[in-house]
Amino acid sequence: MRRHVVVGRTAQLRTDKISHYPAGLWSHGLLNFRNKPYILWQQATHRMEIDGKSAGSLVEDAVVWANQHGLVVALKDPKFINPDVAIIHAPLSLMPVPYPRGRFELAQQVMPLFNRLVDAVATDEAYLESTLGPAALYDTFTGRLLKTLQATRAARALHEAGREVVLGVHRSDYMLDEPSGKFLQVELNTIASSFGCLSALMTRLHLYMASRLPSLEPSRLPANPTLEHIPDAIAAAANAVGFREEGGVVVMVVQPGERNAYDQQWIQLGLWERHRLRTVRMTLGDIAATAKLDEAGGGTVTLKTGEPVCVFYFRAGYTPTDYPSEAEWAARELIERSNAAKCPTVAYQLAGTKKIQQDLARPGVLEKFICDHRDAALLREFFAGLWSLDPNDVATDPGVAAAVADAIARPEAYVLKPQREGGGNNLYGEELRDTLITGGERLSAYILMQRILPPANRSVLVRNGQWSESETLSELGIYGTFVRHGNNVLLNEQSGHLVRTKTSTSNEGGVAAGFAVLDSPYLVD
Ligand code: ADP
Ligand code: MG
Repeated sequence: MRRHVVVGRTAQLRTDKISHYPAGLWSHGLLNFRNKPYILWQQATHRMEIDGKSAGSLVEDAVVWANQHGLVVALKDPKFINPDVAIIHAPLSLMPVPYPRGRFELAQQVMPLFNRLVDAVATDEAYLESTLGPAALYDTFTGRLLKTLQATRAARALHEAGREVVLGVHRSDYMLDEPSGKFLQVELNTIASSFGCLSALMTRLHLYMASRLPSLEPSRLPANPTLEHIPDAIAAAANAVGFREEGGVVVMVVQPGERNAYDQQWIQLGLWERHRLRTVRMTLGDIAATAKLDEAGGGTVTLKTGEPVCVFYFRAGYTPTDYPSEAEWAARELIERSNAAKCPTVAYQLAGTKKIQQDLARPGVLEKFICDHRDAALLREFFAGLWSLDPNDVATDPGVAAAVADAIARPEAYVLKPQREGGGNNLYGEELRDTLITGGERLSAYILMQRILPPANRSVLVRNGQWSESETLSELGIYGTFVRHGNNVLLNEQSGHLVRTKTSTSNEGGVAAGFAVLDSPYLVD
């Protein structure tokens, strides 16, 4: 019978430079990284074996477990009697992915620092404007967000003045970089960080798998408190804003026809069960049509049904298609002018853009926002190589010019990223090379990034009840929650994690976009 082997490797590379090596060794574990030879010291640190027959029955049980426990996505297929309530299990990996415990725990520990960094950057609006200004000239979406920031400044100053309630629900995404052995940050999401709740259920599914398979030790699956932490952070912000006695609600700003609604509904359920806070789901269009802002009376937003809004929590609004008309922009501006907590504010959203990520990596910039040099050094441990493509920087900074020349010569070692969120926007390979060769001012709205090289694993991937075995790459996300009321930080925590696994031939990693499946970490020492 065919054996299906799920092998996970942690990135344990001997990264010492080799001065002498016998000819022919290149094909046997030598790696050329940044023009230096390294020995590739890969160990199968974890091996989980299942045969074809048990894989089939385990997959069946996993799918049933997922449906029974709400690890599901909506099936918006018109062939169902009521497509709005039809569901299917979320795409998932049958077994967890091995990660080195030390590196994983470091990524958890650093999350409160990333929360603080976002808050410090977002507060410095002059920095946001000057850094994003050139990109905004060529990227109308960034430009429009900056305009909203400026247009609402006076209104915000009126009712903020040290009393503002700030709410962050972030997810910092990493890949384990095999050459360096480090988790390097792919990006930091400050808006609509998704899959928090389904990822907690993924951990529970893998705990169930561990109860079935002796080779899986449950103690190696780290606790994943997203189902509690995310609603608790939103509720803490709502309580700080007030209006609870008056029947204040949370508005979840959603996309019409959202397939990932159940991940969001878990937050709504948590808000109700843990805090007796009601959530109203509205699109930006709904808000534009029905919400009323009492600007003269302190900035309170009331809904058509009369309830005041304590918190606007966005699971939409991160991509230009979420603003099909001026009405959606008007809604965004209304929210921004209001006294409700916004997750995120426009400033927080801008602080999470790729251009800001790149700028913070420049020498001395991160250090302006995180003064303690040990904290800043710890954050920098997670930074990949990042370069501006602003023609000014390419012309004046020899480091940038060298990176661009290297990327043209070796495009497979880089990723080219526009100012976009939501997957499917990055450029790779020939497309990357051609774009760099063409050059020009429009590249101000792009950044160049070192390609992170995660170890390849073998995984059993389950989609629509069917499974396949593939060579895969995984991406880890760590959630962070942050609540500040004026000068008081009420909450600043690491709040759980997500692993997404994709076939190694796919460049992009979105689950909702159909590239990846949900997974969970399995810590090995
Ligand atoms: P988005 O905002 O679209 O999610 P990301 O920066 O997360 O943008 O990029 C999308 C996907 O592209 C990631 O999930 C990852 O799979 C891949 N990717 C992005 N940056 C890198 C990188 N530096 N190295 C390797 N893969 C990357
Ligand atoms: Mg991403």
